[in-house]
Order: sequence, then structure tokens, then C-alpha cells
Amino acid sequence: MDWQLLDRDREIWDRELATFVPPKVFDSHLHLYELSHFNGPPPGLVAKGPASAGWAEFQKRIAEIMPDREVTGLAFGYPQTTVNFEAANSFLASECKRPGALSQMLIHPSMDADLIRETVRRDGFVGLKPYHLFATEKPTFNAHIPSFLTDEHMRVAHELGLSITLHIVRSQALADPSNQEVLRRYATQYPNARMILAHAARGFNPHHTVVGIESLRGLRNVWFDTSAVTDCGAYEAIIKVIGHDRLMYGSDFPVSHIRGRCVGLGDNFLWLTPDNTKLDAAYADVQFTLVGIESLRTLKVAALACGLSDEQVEDVFFNNGAALFADRRIS
Ligand SMILES: [Zn+2]
Repeated sequence: MDWQLLDRDREIWDRELATFVPPKVFDSHLHLYELSHFNGPPPGLVAKGPASAGWAEFQKRIAEIMPDREVTGLAFGYPQTTVNFEAANSFLASECKRPGALSQMLIHPSMDADLIRETVRRDGFVGLKPYHLFATEKPTFNAHIPSFLTDEHMRVAHELGLSITLHIVRSQALADPSNQEVLRRYATQYPNARMILAHAARGFNPHHTVVGIESLRGLRNVWFDTSAVTDCGAYEAIIKVIGHDRLMYGSDFPVSHIRGRCVGLGDNFLWLTPDNTKLDAAYADVQFTLVGIESLRTLKVAALACGLSDEQVEDVFFNNGAALFADRRIS
């Protein structure tokens, strides 16, 4: 029952979220893609969804999770080892030639810097989307940042003032000393690059962001997106140490439309889904809801815990993204 909004999902929205989510939303982390742009069978997560997920399809789908909101955003392709980079980037560029739709180029560490520079200029990309699955270091879940986001590509981002949505990996994410060292060095050495650390600096286990967040204090070209985080603690750490003005809402569409929840477990994290979790509690009819709804609830808990005002909540949902891309074209 992925890709399907049920009555019980809507009830959670009506009861808890309708009064929390402001009317204007800048979604800082969303994927647009076509299944035909993958070589071989499409990745499981998207295979059950629409064959073509362009801007209009995204609008239709995100309205299921947050109805009646005016949604602009920052889009990029769906990164998989089987993706055809050229087709995915062309599709993205053509889908985002409209007001309120910004886009980042999907990049591979082996790409020539001139190719990136020319493509960004030609297609109007505002930033870059590297991904650990393309890292030269294996296994990629343990890759150091430079093996999937190189100094050469950082230099291009600095030159052109590009944003970069970076999903850090390694088991301890932001608590990992080598990640901390590279993030500080990149942010300092390339000050015009705008680093967006995806998933609250991959705070799927919130303790890693809580432990590591101090390492980024004082860096003014680092932001965080909320995408697909469904466990409490990481958003709060970012708001308290870095500031609410550096946290931006992100849906992680299409991940928003799967049923599940990612929880910190021991020193790791686990994606609970209907496929790996038996819901046979005696005390109630326990059911999953959509990741997009779980993540909004988690953000609401953080806003309450940190005492954010309504205006500050509007900042997280819209104004922080608008300020980050003030020289671009969000309406
Ligand atoms: Zn994503």
C-alpha cells in the first residue's frame, strides 16, 4: 500500500498537521525521474509508482500528503547505479523550466569539471547532487566524502555559487571524525558553495547528529534538510546548535510515499516497512503510515520541543529556502 493515501493517513494530517504546516512550502529535497531512465529494472522503491514523475506528477502526489499548500522546491534525479545521467538530467531540466522549480544536476565523481560547468549553465541548474552509490570507494555505505564529492567539483560549486545536496554516509554519519573534517574543510575552502546536508546530516540515528553537530558550529554556508527523518532528536540538535534558519523542510518524494518509519536502533538505524516488520500487537491494530507523514510529525515534535514560533515554523517550511536561493527564482 505504498503510493496510496488511506483514510487513516488523512486522519493524522487532519488531527495533527493541518494546523502545523504553513500555506507556503519550499520542498528542498525531492526527486523527479522516469522509470525508462534506468538501465534494467527500475529501483524497487519507485517501481510501484508512476512511470513518469515530473513536476506535475510531483504536485499531484505531494498534495495527497499536504493538501492545499502552495509547493515550490528544489528537485534532482533519483540516484541509482543504473541511472542514465544524461537522460535523467535532461528530463529534470525540462521539467523545471517553470517558476518555483529549482533543480540540481546529478553528478558522478568521474565527470569532467568543464562538463559540469557547461551543463549547469546551459540547463539552468542551481546546484549539484552527488551520491554515495557512485563513490569510488567500496562499500559505498562506508565511503569518505571526497570519493563521491571531489575537490574539483567543489571548486566548480564555489566558482558558480552552486548548492550541493549531500547525503553523508559511514556508520556514524556526522559523529564520524573524517566526515566532520571534510565538511569543515569544504565549507571553509569553498565559501561560495552552499552545502545542504540531507536527512538532517543523515540523522536517521539521531544520536549521530546530536554528537556531531558541534563540529559544524559557526559555518554559515551549511544548511540541513529534514527529508525522510522520522525519529526525534536530530532536528532539535540542528535548531539548538546551528539555528532554525539553517533547517529546511524536504519531502524526499518519492520516499515520502512509501509506508514505513526509520528508527535509531543501537548505534545504527533501521527502516521499518511492512516487508520486514510483523504488526501483530495484541493491544491495538498497529498500522504503518506514510514516511512523508511520519516526517512531518517528527518536525512538529522538534518545533514544540524547541519552542519555535509560528514565524520560525514558516521559516523552516519556506523562508529559509527562499533566502538560500534569493538570487535564483523562487516565487
Ligand atoms: Zn532523497
